[in-house]
Amino acid sequence: ADTPPLLALANVESAYGPIKAIRGISLRVRPQEVVTVLGSNGAGKSTILKTISGVLDPTRGTVRFKDEDITAHDPAEIVKRGLVHVPEGREVFPLLSVHDNLMMGAYTRSDRDGVAKDLEQVYRYFPILRERQKQDAGLLSGGQQQMLAISRALMAAPTLMLLDEPSLGLSPKLTREIFEIVVRINRERGTTILLVEQNAHMALNAADFGYVLENGRIVMEDTCDRLREKEDIREFYLGMK
Ligand code: ATP
Repeated sequence: ADTPPLLALANVESAYGPIKAIRGISLRVRPQEVVTVLGSNGAGKSTILKTISGVLDPTRGTVRFKDEDITAHDPAEIVKRGLVHVPEGREVFPLLSVHDNLMMGAYTRSDRDGVAKDLEQVYRYFPILRERQKQDAGLLSGGQQQMLAISRALMAAPTLMLLDEPSLGLSPKLTREIFEIVVRINRERGTTILLVEQNAHMALNAADFGYVLENGRIVMEDTCDRLREKEDIREFYLGMK
């Protein structure tokens, strides 16, 4: 429990003009953990990830990654340090082939052998992407685009991957498949993962530790094993009585 965190947010506030979306968030992610932030629609989950990856500048507080203050860094610098964001809605390049989308993910790297190895690994994780490698990404289904977005992020060989609602719009079967691979990525590559989800069932099974966000504030934090047993979580997030 004394391992220094890979990522630490301290009292972070972010706003869209006059609208305060997150209000004093403090959280930690330790190396090689899977951490989840649960919360309903509009709670501020995406805003936390955007603030970490530099898409949004906080109005207060600090973001530290690998013991460096990255609060004022821009997104490209943050990616170079090994922190990659898979945004909600995937945002693949629809007019580029699957293969070229993947290579875009590796644009900061010069280790050709490592890139080739990682390409082979993502094709093993998601064989459908190998089959479709020459097709335009815009022709993929929603689930396949999500696979591609995660794979493109992996091609940057990140230390920390931020995942925004990987289950959004997917069938339960595809959601399970994607979560299975997310857990394998963590176990096999040692990639640390911060996962934001509305699907509390999937997130609590995949993650080690969880934060519960309501109206821009963290209202609960605990190991996922303990969160699953809490009455509020069971009732409001897992739909059990
Ligand atoms: P969702 O799953 O719907 O994305 P979320 O928990 O990720 O929910 P955020 O997207 O972080 O929530 O939004 C937090 C708050 O900030 C909400 O009240 C939302 O309406 C507001 N908000 C988000 N994006 C913007 C924006 N670009 N401009 C203005 N307000 C925004």
